[in-house]
Amino acid sequence: MKVYRIAYLGSDNEAVLGLETALKGDGLQFMSAGADYQGMQQAVDFNADVLLWDKENLPPDAAIPVEELRKAGLSRQPIVVVLAADDIEGAVKSLAGGAVDFMFKPMREDPLPRIIAALNTGAKQRRIDWCNRVIEDTNDQVRGILATLADPAYIVSPEYQILWMNRAAEEIFGEGQRGGACHHIFYDRTEPCEVCAKTRGSARWRATLKNGKSYRFISAVMRNSRGEVEKLAVGTDITPDQEVSKIHKTFIANVSHDLRTPLAAIDQYVSILLDGLAGELTEDQANYIDVIRRSSFRLHNLIENLIDANKILSGDYKLTMEVVEVSDIVAVVHDRLQSQAADKGITMQVQVADGLPPVYADKSRIAQVIANLAGNSIKFTEQGMLQIRAGFMPRDEGRVIVSVEDTGIGVPKEDLGKIFDLFYRVEKDKVYVEEGAGLGLAISREIIRAHGGTLWAESMEGMGSAFHLSIPSYQGQAAVR
Ligand code: ADP
Repeated sequence: MKVYRIAYLGSDNEAVLGLETALKGDGLQFMSAGADYQGMQQAVDFNADVLLWDKENLPPDAAIPVEELRKAGLSRQPIVVVLAADDIEGAVKSLAGGAVDFMFKPMREDPLPRIIAALNTGAKQRRIDWCNRVIEDTNDQVRGILATLADPAYIVSPEYQILWMNRAAEEIFGEGQRGGACHHIFYDRTEPCEVCAKTRGSARWRATLKNGKSYRFISAVMRNSRGEVEKLAVGTDITPDQEVSKIHKTFIANVSHDLRTPLAAIDQYVSILLDGLAGELTEDQANYIDVIRRSSFRLHNLIENLIDANKILSGDYKLTMEVVEVSDIVAVVHDRLQSQAADKGITMQVQVADGLPPVYADKSRIAQVIANLAGNSIKFTEQGMLQIRAGFMPRDEGRVIVSVEDTGIGVPKEDLGKIFDLFYRVEKDKVYVEEGAGLGLAISREIIRAHGGTLWAESMEGMGSAFHLSIPSYQGQAAVR
């Protein structure tokens, strides 16, 4: 059984007698010694868990001898100050000076409950100290790893001050920048950048730095041992990718443009034929031309998707960010897809959690993602239902989660990791649904990443699928970075 050791440091015999009587019992040991260095040493040898320090006749503003206690080796024990009944000021000052509680003399009440409370406070404090040490060690390790990176990494305070930079960042911006404002040092700006001012949790952005190279940055929130929020940002050099992607982009842009022109001509002549402007059509002829019209429509969609994918995947687009309610976005998607779901006999349900915080996002792009997920659900579900749910997760300073769940054909386990790749389609689905180029999920994931979020899937073949996206919730203008 754990024995709790209580040490009284003082010279009031009456108090010693009272405490000795009250603190008798299993699991308790009591000692008394003078309130001097020698007495403190005895308390150390006694292995005291809590100290009762008698202020004796010292004036009210006399401080607890924290330094002496520390030197004697009594810095971890909670201190309860014992004082004369009228010394209210002394009690207040002692609490401000580090005591966890106080007791007035003569001791009429049972001192045990207050001593147990002090022991609890001491135990809690030790746990907090331990956690803080773990946080400090972890932060040191993170810095140690980041220091060796060839790409820039830095840590900033909530006031946008640079607290730390690795070697690679110093090579770009110069040494001795600690304490400066990051937006000023990195981008010559006088005001914080949009992404920092508006996002509290993790974020992603691209930037061209002073060395002329382009980087993709990812930032995450860290807490230091004082509980302050710091933001860690790590860049990846994407200059070579950008050069390759420039070639792809130009190629796709040219091909898409070249396809659009003949397609417009096909549409025009199909309309002429269907309108009977080139003569009456037989029923068969009208049917054949209708097939051409529908195929042309699909080709149009494909080209538009290809152009959009080209822009998004090469980062050549701007998000129009605003503070927006998720329920509004979900409602837009519901209106857009409701009849399509009804045509297939699929019940579409929407459920938004009460009090859901808004997000700082590009409304039409997030609607595009949810519509794409819900569109897929309709495409790959024969019967049953499609549910769109929005809720909150307190992780990383708060995130909004939107889930699109269906009772459709599901995705085979071996394909689940690949469906987000560009042009990937599950082989068996190509028979099930002809339409589709395998672009939607790749585009969607990129859009969600650009919002500092994540898009992932769960599925069971034959049972259904659930796609989830999470983006940081908006915390208000005064949010820390
Ligand atoms: P597509 O335009 O072909 O639908 P996506 O990128 O949106 O392209 O989807 C890629 C593939 O992932 C689809 O072709 C399909 O095989 C699979 N998939 C996506 N969503 C679902 C779903 N809800 N249920 C079953 N399979 C799905």
